[in-house]
Amino acid sequence: MNPIDELKTVAQEVSECKKCALHHSRKLAVPGEGPATAEIMFIGEGPGFHENEQGRPFVGQAGKLLEELLAKIGMQRSEVFIGNVVKCRPPGNRDPEPGEIEACSNYLDRQIQAINPKVIVTLGRYSMARFLPNAKISAIHGQSTLAKGRLVVAMYHPAAALHQGSLKPVLEADFLRLPEMIAKAARNHEETPAEPEPKNDAKQLSLF
Ligand code: SF4
Repeated sequence: MNPIDELKTVAQEVSECKKCALHHSRKLAVPGEGPATAEIMFIGEGPGFHENEQGRPFVGQAGKLLEELLAKIGMQRSEVFIGNVVKCRPPGNRDPEPGEIEACSNYLDRQIQAINPKVIVTLGRYSMARFLPNAKISAIHGQSTLAKGRLVVAMYHPAAALHQGSLKPVLEADFLRLPEMIAKAARNHEETPAEPEPKNDAKQLSLF
């Protein structure tokens, strides 16, 4: 199946999915959005209130900050793919549970495989842990790490930066490093095909 059709298929399956208890409380599932040709994927944790209402990722204040950060590096939201590790809103914006992340993992795996991005940026601890289970975000944020052939850059979640002002300049500084990483990843991407999508055994190698 070509990447565009695969993304549409995933979105359709997500909209009807009942594989975990989060389907009980969702209004709209949020499969994620962005072009199949995106070079960069941003992966957050789960939909919040506004996302649940609109069926779109990062549409609240955190989404506004994400768009501002993208603008600082000359990019627009429409150029990147934005998604989450769970596609339905955890009640009360609680953290997603391990069983929910596992139940939803196949959808994200298929999105990554279809898009084959040069760089994956994880936003927040739960997204980072999916690729780098033993990492601490305070130690590796803003650094690129090779996980099963994919270049993964862990960053703080924009919502955390809004909540804790001291993280905002940290997040901005990490974003400003992205163009250099994307350029290097583009060169590596042409030379080294990606391995299958990682689960819990990501081999880490700091590259930058
Ligand atoms: S969070 Fe994922 S696995 Fe759970 S119901 Fe929603 S789409 Fe299905």
